[in-house]
Amino acid sequence: MTREYDVAVLGGGLMGAAIGYGMARLGRRTTILDEGDLAFRASRGNFSLVWVQSKGMGMPAYSAWTRRSAAAWPEFAAALKQESAVDCALDQPGGFTLLLSEAEMERRAAFLARLHAQPGFETYPYEMWDRARVRQVFPGIGPDVVGASYCPLDGHLNALRAFRASHLAFAIRGGDYFPDHPVETMEALPGGGFRIATSKGAFTAAKVVLAAGTGNARLGPMLGLAAPVRPQRGQALVTEKASPFLTHPVVTLRQTDEGGIMMGDSQEEAGFDTSLGLGVLAVMARRAARMFPEIGRLNVVRTWSALRVMTKDGFPIYQQSEAAPGAFLCNCHSGVTLAAAHALLLAPMIDAGALDEALLGAFTTRRFDVPAAA
Ligand SMILES: Cc1cc2nc3c(=O)[nH]c(=O)nc-3n(C[C@H](O)[C@H](O)[C@H](O)COP(=O)(O)OP(=O)(O)OC[C@H]3O[C@@H](n4cnc5c(N)ncnc54)[C@H](O)[C@@H]3O)c2cc1C
Repeated sequence: MTREYDVAVLGGGLMGAAIGYGMARLGRRTTILDEGDLAFRASRGNFSLVWVQSKGMGMPAYSAWTRRSAAAWPEFAAALKQESAVDCALDQPGGFTLLLSEAEMERRAAFLARLHAQPGFETYPYEMWDRARVRQVFPGIGPDVVGASYCPLDGHLNALRAFRASHLAFAIRGGDYFPDHPVETMEALPGGGFRIATSKGAFTAAKVVLAAGTGNARLGPMLGLAAPVRPQRGQALVTEKASPFLTHPVVTLRQTDEGGIMMGDSQEEAGFDTSLGLGVLAVMARRAARMFPEIGRLNVVRTWSALRVMTKDGFPIYQQSEAAPGAFLCNCHSGVTLAAAHALLLAPMIDAGALDEALLGAFTTRRFDVPAAA
């Protein structure tokens, strides 16, 4: 039996779930085809920041897209709560990058000045704070903290709940989720639409959205879409629950809505190896304890690693196939931040059959076609 849909989304990570939910909201009969529980999923191991500051060096359009998504998160979180009854604990009080030496302060200030001075960059508020000012917000900082950069647009949430809520809301809107259905092959049909073969049966759909993370590298070329993506390992650790003392997220550590202190910002090229290294974890924990000595007194209760989906230049890919109209490919490494845009802005573009050139034109893989010597 071949099941028929308006839209097939390949990949049931947060990106696939957000796009799938967006399509189902628009009344499209939508399916999400996914691998099984043992799949690599960034969506189950991330750091949960909705982060704006620092994004877009070399591509101002990325900063603009990120800001749009951060601004759309309250609407997205409210819709998810209303539909699924799951609260994502979205909190956007502004975020900090804490700096542990005068040299770090200077480098950070220079970086942010360069970022905002780029031609075409839509600037937004940010400030460099000295130690005294940082202490007013974080009385518990350690003696090594020299200052911080602060951006009022940053925030965080409970990404596992956002992931669950997106899947629930998708299902409530009539979407069909098929786990354990890894996509094996795809072809464009002569009269339009696509045939998708999974390990457990075939599907047809008028449109197909490739949101399969690192799996897109294999799937994309079947429909004339390149996906030069690779896994990049990130490790994280979380402590036992503590009374609230971090009122704002810091880029490398945050207090979760449940009370634990989460730390983690490693970026490691290790292929599909998800093993943990005590060396990396110790470095992250030591730096966190220099920022907040209180953290050094807490027990670590869990450590994990997960694989980011990384493009060649670190910026997202949003691409529509010229060879197979109706096929779209999406990849990014900050899909928590961008989930609101994926559900509320990208899904309508896919529904209309064309990505908005002004918003997403910079993100096609055409940018990789520049000869290396240029
Ligand atoms: C350590 C770490 C920290 C992070 N921190 C943040 C953060 O603070 N803020 C932020 O915005 N983002 C963060 N991210 C990124 C964020 O988690 C992801 O961008 C987001 O979850 C979206 O992931 P995804 O759906 O694109 O990919 P994944 O979650 O990897 O999902 C890909 C899906 O595709 C499926 N798939 C693969 N091949 C096939 C196939 N052939 N057929 C069907 N399905 C297939 C897989 O089974 C999987 O379900 C972090 C990631 C990591 C690893």
